[in-house]
Amino acid sequence: MTGLMGWESVVFLHADILTFPGEDSAESVPMTPGTGPGWYRLIHELCRRLEETPKPWPVCTDIKVDRSGRLCFYVDSATDDQWKIIELAEELSEEICDDCGAMKDADAHCCSPKQYP
Ligand SMILES: [Zn+2]
Repeated sequence: MTGLMGWESVVFLHADILTFPGEDSAESVPMTPGTGPGWYRLIHELCRRLEETPKPWPVCTDIKVDRSGRLCFYVDSATDDQWKIIELAEELSEEICDDCGAMKDADAHCCSPKQYP
């Protein structure tokens, strides 16, 4: 797992997007349990691109994986341009192994295939 970012460092780098105001204190958005570190870099890139757009930036409220294994990045609000960036990352997530971050290859499994309920 060398070379992969920890979730805490992604949250730290993009605190404006990945921290939501809680009741008493700000909380960082948890990565969905069961999602591997392969997507941390994808979300890092997603946040980096969102930060290139004019403020206000969207604030992430939840990160989930749908039944087909696709990333769902929920935000409080976003402009059209910001939505396009989020949708692109969600589409890319279908091509990227969430365990190791490699591009998926239909002919070769990089890791053991995941089971989704
Ligand atoms: Zn893999």
